[in-house]
Amino acid sequence: MGVRELMDRLDWGPAPESDELAKALLAERGRDNGMYIDGRWVQPRRGERFDTVNPATGEVLGTIGQADSHEIDLAVAAARHAQPAWEALSGHDRARHLYAIGRAVQRNSRILAVLETMDNGKPIRETRDIDIPLVARHFIHHAGWAQLLDETMPNQKPWGVCGQIIPWNFPLLMLAWKVAPALAAGNTIVIKPAESTSLTALAFAALCHDAGLPRGVLNIVTGDGKTGALIVEHDDIDKIAFTGSTAVGRVIRKATAGSGKGLTLELGGKSPFIVFEDADVESAIEGLVDAIWFNQGQVCCAGSRLLVQESIAEPFYERLRERMAALRVGNPLDKAVDMGAIIDANQLTTIEKLCETGVEEGGTLWQPNIEMPETGNFFPPTLFTDVSPASTVVQEEIFGPVLVSMTFRSPGEAVSLANNTKFGLAGSVWSQDIDTALEVARRIKAGVIWVNCTNRFDANAGFGGYRESGFGREGGHEGMSAYLRPPRTTESELTESKENDANEIDEEGYAVIGVREPTTVLTGIDRTAKMFIGGVQKRPDGGNSLTVMGPSGRIDEVGRGNRKDIRNAVEAAIGRCKWPNMNGHQRAQVLYYIGENLEARRNEFIHRLVKMTGLSDASAETEFDDSVEQWFRWAAWADKYDGRVHETNSRALVIAVNEPIGVVGVIASDSRPLAGFVRLVAPLLAMGNTVVAIPSEAHPLVATDLYQVLETSDLPNGALNIITGLRADLIEPLAAHDAVDAIWVASDDITLAQTMSAGNMKRTWDANPDASDIERLRQSSQVKNIWLPHAI
Ligand code: ADP
Ligand code: MG
Repeated sequence: MGVRELMDRLDWGPAPESDELAKALLAERGRDNGMYIDGRWVQPRRGERFDTVNPATGEVLGTIGQADSHEIDLAVAAARHAQPAWEALSGHDRARHLYAIGRAVQRNSRILAVLETMDNGKPIRETRDIDIPLVARHFIHHAGWAQLLDETMPNQKPWGVCGQIIPWNFPLLMLAWKVAPALAAGNTIVIKPAESTSLTALAFAALCHDAGLPRGVLNIVTGDGKTGALIVEHDDIDKIAFTGSTAVGRVIRKATAGSGKGLTLELGGKSPFIVFEDADVESAIEGLVDAIWFNQGQVCCAGSRLLVQESIAEPFYERLRERMAALRVGNPLDKAVDMGAIIDANQLTTIEKLCETGVEEGGTLWQPNIEMPETGNFFPPTLFTDVSPASTVVQEEIFGPVLVSMTFRSPGEAVSLANNTKFGLAGSVWSQDIDTALEVARRIKAGVIWVNCTNRFDANAGFGGYRESGFGREGGHEGMSAYLRPPRTTESELTESKENDANEIDEEGYAVIGVREPTTVLTGIDRTAKMFIGGVQKRPDGGNSLTVMGPSGRIDEVGRGNRKDIRNAVEAAIGRCKWPNMNGHQRAQVLYYIGENLEARRNEFIHRLVKMTGLSDASAETEFDDSVEQWFRWAAWADKYDGRVHETNSRALVIAVNEPIGVVGVIASDSRPLAGFVRLVAPLLAMGNTVVAIPSEAHPLVATDLYQVLETSDLPNGALNIITGLRADLIEPLAAHDAVDAIWVASDDITLAQTMSAGNMKRTWDANPDASDIERLRQSSQVKNIWLPHAI
């Protein structure tokens, strides 16, 4: 027998990692784990506890306290108390703390890896080589952001107290993703690990304590979803960051609506893994193993939908089945094991049920005939073929080691299949052809794209989703900005004219008057200013109009838009609008042209402003001039809001591009009806979004006058749609519309808008009139990180 043949036939023997040290640590800590609040170990006052279990063996590793409102209050108070001093430290001092934590993780990396594997069931190879090294990397990297904050992100403030809720799939890594940037930015923290995996978080608290982190800066509370809800609802928390299921994300969106709390959500996914016929097949197969069998597929960005080009599908599946048959499932502490245990019996049942559904719906399920452990929560690697785009297993996140597969013929078909889910977390593209790879990478709607690789993560690359995969980014510059905000504006700056009926003058000099139901029967609605939908002036669907009142009485009528008008406008904004596909230079030209054409109608607009709002001529001129300047300003930005190239731990170009969000709903306030309106819609247009805008309710006519300018300025049909009427009629259908990707609210209606936005998890922005250009650009775009590894 030759060496080659011997090598091929050699089996893996067991190579177990020792759990002795981890067990000793648990014994030393005692069976009943406390929580870490204000620098002390606290047991829950009510005494409620639950077991934490090793999912591979069923062994109870200890008990965990269930925090109720008493412990949450304590933790929030401690964080609040500690926050000013933590923020007041120099960046360098915070950097020293973060660096010390990173070093402590490195010094204790093996015991943390073993503990993680015992509590979670994932292979030691992963905790040892991926989870824990990335945790250390995260803290050391963020020590750097703390150090450089004044230089890199000037004029920003921390949110204050952050409430953070994390899942069980990467327990310590998710903690690091949340804790490191929050601390670097000067926030203090109340964080809750998932109920099934609290042990490494508690061990981490002990490391921070020993490393001298000041009391109250980091508080770790334990408990299940009820504890999570208490954090979300706590009045004295300024920002919530959540990673977990889309269902819980939706609950959190509703619970925080209108509270003014910052919110970032990293939710589920059903990420495509696209293999073109010119891909390096062996690499793609290994990539697939990482994409869907890494962490037993319990990964939010798992490449769970394989899309293979039809021409190579059969041989590819054959090779894949061969590879699946070589996967080893078993004791996660065994260093030679590829797949460990599923987190718990519930999750196992969910996976089994979804597989049954897949078979019932006509899918073909294939599992290799490999040795499986007799006890513990294990599930074999699984492949589904013969599924259709609408199959449950193709649409729903399974969160287990189950791959579904479909074929495609052309790149265009691959893209439309890839985008055919409600999610948009990640995607992986395999092709040796750089044109195909990059074009497809640009067209997939997801926050992270891996070209010829998969599941790469780094502290300096943003991670986070499009669509129902959530909003906000974690990692690097993008992640840091989620933990900072512009200094708060004062109350008086935010005052707007809200009353419709009193004929008063507000602080800015606008007569506070509004719209009324017409008091006389109109002979027709011909004199009514129309709405602007798909580039065409449209009468309101309901045939109703409103009387616009100026300081000296009735001025004109505007259409009273309804649900149907909103739907038509959204339709026009998605439709075949050319705007998003135009390049920045082309968009700039159109926006300049709008400014130029607006300027040409100077007198008419100023007159309208005076008549409508009661402003003095001079004030109206100022507002008009500002409006013209705004068009020029956003034309200027249209080709200048560059992305970045991130430096990461891989030999790769990680390119962060700023992409438009899609269709954005805008609700203007009554203050500065022209300039305020332009300041909302123009940045969105500059970044390539299409817009459905509801102008000032009280003074809508300058916005409707604007469409005569738009019509002569080469703005493609559907790019900007204007619906007049009552906010009370229009906000709900706009914010609830699933084809609207984000909503900006400058009026007082943020609570309603945020509540209604939970349906498709659209981004919302409480559009601050004083927001800087950069903030507006950030709110107008979403970042896609494209990983392009290279090595010869
Ligand atoms: P998974 O299905 O992956 O367990 P979940 O979204 O249920 O994801 O859990 C993620 C985290 O959210 C866990 O820490 C869990 O305790 C917490 N959680 C569950 N329900 C709620 C809730 N209603 N409010 C806040 N946090 C919750
Ligand atoms: Mg456990």
